[in-house]
Amino acid sequence: MTNFAQRLIHWYHLNKRSLPWRDTNDPYCIWLSEIILQQTRVDQGFAYYERFVSAWPGVAHLAAASEDEVLKMWQGLGYYSRARNLHKAAKQVLHDHAGSFPDTINGLLGLQGVGEYTAAAIASMAFGTKVAVVDGNVFRVLARLYGIGEPINTAQGKKVFTELATSLLPTSDAGTYNQALMEFGALHCTPRKPQCETCIFASSCHARRDNTVSDLPVKLSKKTIRKRYFNYLVLLHGHGNSASLYLNKRSEGDIWTGLYEFALIETAAPVASESLMESDRWKELTANSEGRLIHQSHQYKHPLTHQLIHARFYVVNLQNLLDLSGQNTLSLIKHSALEKYPLPRLIDRFLDDTNGLSDYYQT
Ligand code: SF4
Repeated sequence: MTNFAQRLIHWYHLNKRSLPWRDTNDPYCIWLSEIILQQTRVDQGFAYYERFVSAWPGVAHLAAASEDEVLKMWQGLGYYSRARNLHKAAKQVLHDHAGSFPDTINGLLGLQGVGEYTAAAIASMAFGTKVAVVDGNVFRVLARLYGIGEPINTAQGKKVFTELATSLLPTSDAGTYNQALMEFGALHCTPRKPQCETCIFASSCHARRDNTVSDLPVKLSKKTIRKRYFNYLVLLHGHGNSASLYLNKRSEGDIWTGLYEFALIETAAPVASESLMESDRWKELTANSEGRLIHQSHQYKHPLTHQLIHARFYVVNLQNLLDLSGQNTLSLIKHSALEKYPLPRLIDRFLDDTNGLSDYYQT
C-alpha cells in the first residue's frame, strides 16, 4: 500500500463517523445509502436510510412495495427520479439477478439509477473490487493536493481525476480507501474552511503551498436557471367526513414524475388572478361545478437544480363534483387519505402553511 493510502486509512480509522452502512458489506444497504445520499446531506439522509431499511429490510421487500409507497417514503428528499429508479432497480435485482446484486461493474451499471460513481462504490465496498470512487469530495481533495486546475464538471476533467484516483488505489481494501478519501473531503478538506493547519498532508499539498486552496477545485458555471410559473387550483368539495379534493398525478417527461399536486395551470409569465380566472382552463375546472374562490396565497418561490418555480395557490370550493371525462390525470380523493399520497415539497409547504387545508372546507 502506498504511503498516501496508509496515512489516509489511518486517519479514517481515527476520525470516521459511525454510520450504519459502513459496518456492513451488504450490497443492498450500501446501494440504498448511496442512492439516498446523492444530493443529500448525511444528517438528513441518515433518517431516510433508517426508515427504508426498517420498512424494507431486503431488496425483495422493496421490490414488492408499490411506487406510491416508495415515493411517499422518499417525500422531502427531492430528485424523485432517484426514488423511482431505486424501486425499478430493486425489481431488476429480484427478477433479472435472482435477488442477488450483480458483483461486477457492468452488471451494476445495468441497474436503473446506478451510474459510474454508484457502481464503483458498491463494487469496492461490497465486493472489494479495485476501482476508484470519484465524488465531489474526491475531486476537491485531489484538486488541492495535486494542484489540478482542470474543471471538474467536464468530460476531460472527470477523466483526469478518475485516472489519478485510480493510480492512487491500494492493491487491497479499495472499499476502505475509497471511503477514507471521501470522508477526508467531507470532514477535513471541506469546501469552506479546510483544516490545513492540522492536515496530515499539509507538507505536500500543492494548493496550500501555492495559496490556491480557495480556488480549487475549478467548476465551470452552471446553465441558466429556467423560471416557471405554476398556478394551482386547490379544488375542494364537501366537508366533515365527506371532505374531498382533486389531485393531479404528474406524468413523465418533466419534474416530479409520479408525484401528486393540485390542478395546475402553468403560464409562461406571472399572471394576475383576474386573467387567470378568464382562462379556458379555469372555466373548465370551475364553471360547471359552481366553483367559488375563497383564498389566494402569496407567491411561493421554490428552487430546483435548474429551475425556479414561482407558485400561487387558489383555493376553490366546488358546489358540484367535476366531470372527469377528458381529465385523465385528475382524481377525487378523500381529504383523510391525503397523507398517503407522495407530494412534492412545494405542495407540502403550502399544506403546512394552511393547516392542512382543513379551514377551507365549506361548512
Ligand atoms: S492542506 Fe488543506 S487543502 Fe491541502 S489537503 Fe490538507 S486540508 Fe486540504
